Amino acid sequence: MKYISTRGGIAPIPFTEAVMMGLAGDGGLLLPETIPVVDDTTLDRWRVLSYPDLATAVISLFAADLEPEVLAGLTRRSYAVFNHPEVVPLVERGGITVMELFHGPTLAFKDIALQFLGNLFEYLLGRDGRRMNILGATSGDTGSAAIHGVRGKAGINIFILHPHGRVSPVQELQMTTVTDANVFNIAIKGTFDDGQAMVKSIFSDAAFKEKYHLGAVNSINWARIVAQVVYYIYAALRLGGEGKRVDFSVPTGNFGDIFAGFIARWMLGGRIGRLVLATNGNDILSRFVNQGEYSRSAVVRTSSPSMDIQVASNFERFLFYLYDKDPGRVSAAINEFAASGRLLFSAAEQETTREIFAADMVDEAATIATIREVFAADGYLFDPHTAVGVRAGMAHKLDDVPMVCLATAHPAKFGAAVKRAIGREPELPPSLAGLDKLESRCRILSADEGEIRQYLAANALI
Ligand SMILES: *Cc1c(COP(=O)(O)O)cnc(C)c1O
Repeated sequence: MKYISTRGGIAPIPFTEAVMMGLAGDGGLLLPETIPVVDDTTLDRWRVLSYPDLATAVISLFAADLEPEVLAGLTRRSYAVFNHPEVVPLVERGGITVMELFHGPTLAFKDIALQFLGNLFEYLLGRDGRRMNILGATSGDTGSAAIHGVRGKAGINIFILHPHGRVSPVQELQMTTVTDANVFNIAIKGTFDDGQAMVKSIFSDAAFKEKYHLGAVNSINWARIVAQVVYYIYAALRLGGEGKRVDFSVPTGNFGDIFAGFIARWMLGGRIGRLVLATNGNDILSRFVNQGEYSRSAVVRTSSPSMDIQVASNFERFLFYLYDKDPGRVSAAINEFAASGRLLFSAAEQETTREIFAADMVDEAATIATIREVFAADGYLFDPHTAVGVRAGMAHKLDDVPMVCLATAHPAKFGAAVKRAIGREPELPPSLAGLDKLESRCRILSADEGEIRQYLAANALI
């Protein structure tokens, strides 16, 4: 199986090259040429597999140029660091099924993809005798999951910029207490947007990027998507039987997680029914589903900051399919959106979209109320991102169809929002409780691109 770009500008490439490329050379996103559909016999075989072995089976369908034993080693190592024997346990709460995706090292679902990506990068770089310096800006979750994904790995250094004093104390400690020699935390005296703008500008300098082997870990890397396809299939195998379907509700920001659900739905035929796309007040995607219009507006701050996103970086992948795999139409639409901030969809396109997705915007009051109500009824706590998904999932739950709500973060990561709901902060799990006593390391720099480049140049692997 080969990978192509949504904009049609590159010759097909194998999986491992797609992983190293990240963003396609023509500015588009990489996708497999075909999506494998899985038959009943295979599904029966998969039903008994452990999570890491299922991950090997699923990912191998997309990774023809990676030896199965190598892949099996990578998935086993990636999921052995999770602190739950089932990796992604399913629990019944409040009439819905919660899939806990937060048992990884940073207690958020991004660990599932980034642990795998870190191991995969290390393997590919070692195999080819190459090095990589990962550069990224974070507002919290992605940065810490990326750091934990590559800490101590050979051939990789990682530089993560976060806004000094503007990430939550837990998020800051999760990054700065990683003192492996290959991890460089940079607190910049500025905002997240300042950090992101500098990172973008540095990446656009092709000579600098090449000289310092810069790499990215953002959610457009196909390896992240494919690693997330696995848990949808895992849940569908456990809850849906012969001719029985399962629905999912997904708290959505960059459309990465729910796009993985879209791929899983395609692979499993009728076993996955509707995907409920839940947004917070940053509702560009829920408006897209419900009104057939994708239009930019200002970012608002909410208690679910990892979803405070307006332009969803993975949306282009869905557009490719909605436009019948026509890269010319995708390119035209991307240009039109860049110029006008708006895309409109035909009645037929809207109908196709709504066969796959239902969508709701969940505001702050409903988010906090959901945390409060489920805690009162069941003693179970959601983080605010999960609560957005649960609220929408409950609204779209059908009587005889299980609704799996993806729990994307541990409530203790977002203690302030939980406190607003129930009057006190959640108990810290052991992995967070001792963090403030650990040694920490972080360099404070000004929001000055020259300074960042200098620091990179002095510490990069070359
Ligand atoms: C990143 C993130 C999301 C959103 O995932 P997307 O793939 O961007 O849609 C939801 N919840 C949490 C806790 C996250 O960190």
